[in-house]
Amino acid sequence: MSETKQFKTETKRLLNLMINSIYTNREIFLRELIANASDAIDKYHYLSLTDDKLEKRNDYKIELAFDKTNRTITISDNGIGMTKDEIINNLGTVAKSGSKEFMEKINKEEIDKDEEREIIGQFGVGFYSSYLVAEKVQVDTKSPYSDQAYRFISDGIEKYSIEEIEKENVGSSITLFLRPNDEDNNYDEYLDQYMLQTLVKKYSDFIRYPIQMEVETEKPIIDKNGKETDKFEKVHEIKTLNSMTPVWKKNKNDVTDEDYNDFYKSKFYDYQDPLDHYQYNVEGNVTYTALLYIPKKAPYDLYSEKYEKGLQLYTKGVFIMDKCKELIPDYLRFVKGIVDSSDLSLNISREMLQHDRQLTKIAANLEKKMVKHLADMQNDEPEKYRQFFEAFGINLKFGVYNNFGEKKELLQDLLMYKTIKNDQLISLKDYVLNMKEDQKYIYFVSAKDKEAVMSMPQMDMVKNKDYDVLILSDDVDEFVFQILNKYEEKEFKSINQGDLDLLNDDEKKKAKNLAKEKKDLLTKIKESLDGKVKDVVISSRLTSSPVCLVSGDGISFEMEKVMNQMPNGENIKADRILELNANHPIFKVLEKVSEDDNKLKDYASVLYNQALVLEGFKVENPNEFITKMCDIMVEAANIDK
Ligand code: ADP
Repeated sequence: MSETKQFKTETKRLLNLMINSIYTNREIFLRELIANASDAIDKYHYLSLTDDKLEKRNDYKIELAFDKTNRTITISDNGIGMTKDEIINNLGTVAKSGSKEFMEKINKEEIDKDEEREIIGQFGVGFYSSYLVAEKVQVDTKSPYSDQAYRFISDGIEKYSIEEIEKENVGSSITLFLRPNDEDNNYDEYLDQYMLQTLVKKYSDFIRYPIQMEVETEKPIIDKNGKETDKFEKVHEIKTLNSMTPVWKKNKNDVTDEDYNDFYKSKFYDYQDPLDHYQYNVEGNVTYTALLYIPKKAPYDLYSEKYEKGLQLYTKGVFIMDKCKELIPDYLRFVKGIVDSSDLSLNISREMLQHDRQLTKIAANLEKKMVKHLADMQNDEPEKYRQFFEAFGINLKFGVYNNFGEKKELLQDLLMYKTIKNDQLISLKDYVLNMKEDQKYIYFVSAKDKEAVMSMPQMDMVKNKDYDVLILSDDVDEFVFQILNKYEEKEFKSINQGDLDLLNDDEKKKAKNLAKEKKDLLTKIKESLDGKVKDVVISSRLTSSPVCLVSGDGISFEMEKVMNQMPNGENIKADRILELNANHPIFKVLEKVSEDDNKLKDYASVLYNQALVLEGFKVENPNEFITKMCDIMVEAANIDK
């Protein structure tokens, strides 16, 4: 009896995409189906540890076969199989991790063909990748939880059928009916034992179960006396195609960088080599092997809520779980890799893992090692580290900031910034090392680039002193400095906040006297600005510019902007302080007009608005601002109104 069902709409789209894909890497279909087979065996094994209904086995294997006449390839496993409901849910619907995310991504965004290549590879669309090479797919499967075996057949994107079949053994057998060849595509190339052997070596060598195929080889004919003759005959034999030993279990000397990179690409769905890999074999207090990778680029979803951090967890080579998040701190969420430990019990559950003392120890040990590794890279391979930091540095910044700076000591040395003197990223240590003799603080400024910084009036005095200034470009940066407070006993100081403390004692005295002398004028200006500024002061940071706006200590303008952008951000305002340059002709102008209250009000308002613009704020009332500017210009030219 056969039943026909409709694919879900999403599935249809995915199938359509696969069928019409120009995906150049279509050979990955084999990797995907073998990975599914291996997962199915993992599941069987895992369940059999605790479920007596499942026979204990040690004959796990994946079989590969091809048929030139019928143009089919078959991948069979003796894993967990599927019940009828599971077939419908798993194969009739895009329900599964990789494929589902992939569909969400292409639903949301228009992707072009180039991207498609990259994206399909990244997701590993699993079962559906069959359609990269097949026009019809047949799945025969039997679950240990069902007495009946089933056959799923789909030969288009609309419908599939399910029928009951006879199948003795538990497990699945997937048969691909290859598409017809055409001018551009030769699918027959996969109906070849050498091709299949090569693909298994390339993509699935580390699969823990034997992948077997009947191959044809030539062997010398043995004569009556048991001696080899020089004649050959064709013989068929079952060959195991994969070496099965996962890279991390092989002798380090036998593994090349290429092997490590290939393992990474096939395991973690990246089409690029990783930036870096490292392996630890730790023995002692805790015993584990870790093989870790830092990708070259952040995956597209690293910062989305959906991203799941974690390392694959094995115990004594047996797979336990895919993304064990307990193994990795948030600030290293981009690290990929595996941990294999003999300290963990084999049938540990996910819930138990959270409280497992051994696992906590491994995680702590691993965290230290990873941070050390980054520090070593920073020292020994600065170029590589910069590349790393460009891609993932922001995670370390959050690492410093989160939990009230719990990890700041550990991570502060890893932070890197551009400065007005260094177009390349440098560390805080290097900044401090190159500080001028009379320089007391670590100066910083939030800006999009060096050009923007150099044109800021607040930079006048700092430029004169030839101090270097860190350029902050991430939203979290100022919050990080606030949490750090000091680095090597040096306080951080924003060039547009508070007192820059740039004057020597003599200059300070002079400034104080001047402030006293001009107090009335400053108060008048402040009053005329109707509470818009907390204070009006004579600047010690301006030399050639007339005015600037700075914030008081505490909340800075940058923080104000960041916090107000946040969802449910309260309306937080930094204190605004208007600084005037007493050596600028404009100051004399202000003194001159100070007798006329209305005029002073207009001039102060224009200057205040100019300062706002310089700080990246909007003019409060553009119409009024322009009218006032025009009035002042007309008056300056002495023309009768
Ligand atoms: P994914 O592997 O990302 O979960 P797939 O589309 O490859 O997605 O597979 C969907 C689901 O179908 C799997 O999660 C699994 O439950 C089931 N499945 C696929 N292949 C097999 C198999 N060989 N044996 C048992 N179940 C399978």
